[in-house]
Amino acid sequence: MADRATVGSYEITAVIDMVPPPRPTSAMFPDVPEGAWADYQDVLEDGQLQLYYGVFVVRSDNHTVLVDTGMGPGPHPSRGNIVGNLYEELRPVMLPPNVDIHNTNVSPSDQVNFVIHTHLHADHVGWNLRYSGGMPAPNFRRARYIIPKDDYDYYTQPEILEQNPHVQQQIMPLRRLRLQQIVEGEYEVTDGISTMPAVGHTPGHQVVLVNSGGEKAMLVGDLLHCIAQVTEPSWCASVDYDKAASHANRAALLDKAESEGWLIAAGHFPPGKQIGRVVTEGGKRRWQSL
Ligand SMILES: [Zn+2]
Repeated sequence: MADRATVGSYEITAVIDMVPPPRPTSAMFPDVPEGAWADYQDVLEDGQLQLYYGVFVVRSDNHTVLVDTGMGPGPHPSRGNIVGNLYEELRPVMLPPNVDIHNTNVSPSDQVNFVIHTHLHADHVGWNLRYSGGMPAPNFRRARYIIPKDDYDYYTQPEILEQNPHVQQQIMPLRRLRLQQIVEGEYEVTDGISTMPAVGHTPGHQVVLVNSGGEKAMLVGDLLHCIAQVTEPSWCASVDYDKAASHANRAALLDKAESEGWLIAAGHFPPGKQIGRVVTEGGKRRWQSL
């Protein structure tokens, strides 16, 4: 069963694109001593970190927003040749319950009005475009793709772009296709849905806020990779671009989420635990999934 929450007039649903191979904790969090994981064995799988590549569908009667697009169809040599499965996983979420998902011409991807990217890493942009005869075509052809300016500026520098072929393939063509919208600062995407910078993981990393009917949710992108970081916000992933900023923004947004009662949605958390709240008990903050 997919993770799901209602926030005012929106419904947020978690969808898993792909489950990459697990990694040792020391590979993902090189600055965290092995012994420090003793308190967090319950968030590991056989002592290893298992990330999930999840995206979120945020829907109301009027809007369908996709937050990030996963790793892409693959197979992905950098991830054990595993394939992404977002398209199939989206179908039951997007189609009305009375439609036979195996016998309909209704395309779930055509319903997406906005694709919001929290940042431009490979596991967040992979289903943007498909290629036929070398020509790119959008998988979400009716959507505007929202991209944070500081990530766009950073990743399209020639020497950085060369090392990030996924940006060349999945981001660069959007401009010519007139589907991209570069945003800066706090930006209102549509009624009740906005973006807010939360940099550190990448130069332009942003979170997505849903604020509707007095209820609030924060889709945090890679501000959180692992449930242990809710209790240990100073733990930074090896891939964080600016660890000090990552730590500061994680700590500040967790404070805000707890004091103001925001739901949190974290795509790299395990299925069943991707949407939740942060609560403090006995002086320790922890994750409480819905
Ligand atoms: Zn990621």
